[in-house]
Amino acid sequence: MVSRVIPVDPFDLVVFGGTGDLARRKIIPALFRRYCSGQVPEGSRIIGAARSELDRDGFCDMVAGAIREFSGGRACEDGTLERFLQMVDYVKLDASGEDGWSELTHLIKEDRTRAFYLSVGPALFGDIAGRIRTHGLVNDQTRIVVEKPFGHDLESAQALNATLAQHFHERQIYRIDHYLGKETVQNLMAVRFGNMLFEPLWNAQYVDHIQITVAETVSIGSRGEYYDRAGAMRDMMQNHLMQLLCLIAMEPPARFEPDSVRDEKLKVIRALDPVEPHHIVRGQFDGTGDEPGYREEVGHPRSTTESYVALKAHISNWRWSGTPFYLRTGKKLVARSSVINVVFKDAPHSIFGTDAGGAANILSIRLQPNEGITMHVTIKEPGPGGMRLVDVPLDMSFAEALGPEGEDPPDAYERLIMDVIRGNQTLFMRGDEVEAAWAWTDPIIAGWKARGEVPKPYDAYSKGPLDADQLMRRDGREWRGIKP
Ligand code: NAD
Repeated sequence: MVSRVIPVDPFDLVVFGGTGDLARRKIIPALFRRYCSGQVPEGSRIIGAARSELDRDGFCDMVAGAIREFSGGRACEDGTLERFLQMVDYVKLDASGEDGWSELTHLIKEDRTRAFYLSVGPALFGDIAGRIRTHGLVNDQTRIVVEKPFGHDLESAQALNATLAQHFHERQIYRIDHYLGKETVQNLMAVRFGNMLFEPLWNAQYVDHIQITVAETVSIGSRGEYYDRAGAMRDMMQNHLMQLLCLIAMEPPARFEPDSVRDEKLKVIRALDPVEPHHIVRGQFDGTGDEPGYREEVGHPRSTTESYVALKAHISNWRWSGTPFYLRTGKKLVARSSVINVVFKDAPHSIFGTDAGGAANILSIRLQPNEGITMHVTIKEPGPGGMRLVDVPLDMSFAEALGPEGEDPPDAYERLIMDVIRGNQTLFMRGDEVEAAWAWTDPIIAGWKARGEVPKPYDAYSKGPLDADQLMRRDGREWRGIKP
């Protein structure tokens, strides 16, 4: 299937931190892929702004290297990279001083969409936002994109929001959560609200429980210092898993428009009950053989930071009262798997008798790998021998169903960056959503601290701490979704 390209006018995009890891691995390759798809019009400009000692040629070399390494082998016409590089420029700039700002201001003169992507640490957000304003770069067509982490608690998130609000209207601020840019996440909304089939069953009367798993095989990498201050609760649960929970649980928005969708998400977060301490399991991976444990990796022998967290949440509203939501995420687990499982209740009565078998219907929404949706249904086991029931998957892999052979689905950053340019905030977090998510998260973390809790150890490359299985088993349920 050929993807539809919605044209945009030429734009200016300034990437603060344009020489950093995120810019090289995600932002630049995403822009290049959109350029190959004909969505970045000629005449647009992509301006790297960072403190690295580079001139334009040096930055273009870096951009070309990043594209070769990270753009997923996208096949483009000859000369595409050279044409793309003609749009690229670089300013050596100090975000917290005056160096480079007049050069940047000089480059951005045209009356067109101008987006400023803050791919730098959050400590610099205030400085950059302020200087964009004092250098006269804010007008109606200005947008600012900020990366996670958006605060480390409610107070810091409120302070960040207040700082940004001094210089920009909320409608100009794009807080990225790249999970929302994933094809399957949007498909979740299409499946829920585009079909008559699911929505009538999407409530506590028919859904037994919902599981959200974001399992990673990777470890902390070079982010040890940051991660040890954050942990899985702040790094993943407060944002990515919370956003998935919102989309799966929210009421149908009146329209697929930014504030309609975000209003509904906010209502979900505000309806979340505080989590009982015995409904949370924290874990920290141990070393095995030559593999270092968490504490060795972060160089902090007494660290009590969790690299894994699982919890049971309740949403107190008419739709979900009594349906538990089980959420878990962790590092150095046995498989990389992000999946949402909607587990429906058993049929009220089996006309085939209890020996016939069969299992609950489960709708599995896979975010990665192999994005797609599977519906588990019960059918008759083929052949003679009476009525035996078996559970079979009706599988729709998006790559098979929709993509041309061999082409990767678009990366989340491709979609989100183009949404910024189009001025569509639907897939970005609003300030009040972020604050509400912290208001739910803070007491959980404060409780761990007050009780002096230490995380449960788990083996590296396992499914996580045994206590997380217990959390489910106590309720007569089991986790699904991490398969080695
Ligand atoms: P990085 O350390 O690799 O790059 C930082 C960039 O900021 C560099 O280009 C550097 O030159 C620039 N910079 C630093 N101080 C500056 C200053 N005073 N003036 C001008 N430029 C300055 O960091 P990163 O991994 O690219 O992360 C950037 C942001 O994105 C961080 O907030 C991070 O938490 C967030 N983030 C990163 C990832 C990732 O995968 N790397 C994922 C999600 C969010």
